[in-house]
Amino acid sequence: MSRGRAAVDERRAELAALGKDLARRARSRCELCGEGGSLSVVEPGPVPELPDVDRALLLCGPCAGLCALPAGRALPADDGLRFLAASIWAELPIAQALAVRLCRRVPTAWAREAVDGLYLAPQIEALADGLEPPAEG
Ligand SMILES: [Zn+2]
Repeated sequence: MSRGRAAVDERRAELAALGKDLARRARSRCELCGEGGSLSVVEPGPVPELPDVDRALLLCGPCAGLCALPAGRALPADDGLRFLAASIWAELPIAQALAVRLCRRVPTAWAREAVDGLYLAPQIEALADGLEPPAEG
């Protein structure tokens, strides 16, 4: 159809091509919560022009759902999200940034304490601040 559509399809193919690298890095585990199961490539916004393995994550369904919530929306005060308190120490920058961003929105004492006790490198802080839900589609 339009050139815009072709560009979207092309980008999608390039993103799919990252899947192998991501699978190797993630070792078949969700890069946020560590669970196995069905994983999908998630690219938090703003997306770079070319798909970048350092800006993408392999996530399980529930974590992909968390990532897709609108930026201002609080997360549920759910102890099932306690994995975030550990994930905010992730060595992978994009995983750490996403975990921090999500953990800050969980309205519980454990989440607040976890974030308060964290030293965040300035570049991770900037990355976390700039993340957005993935683009639709
Ligand atoms: Zn997960």
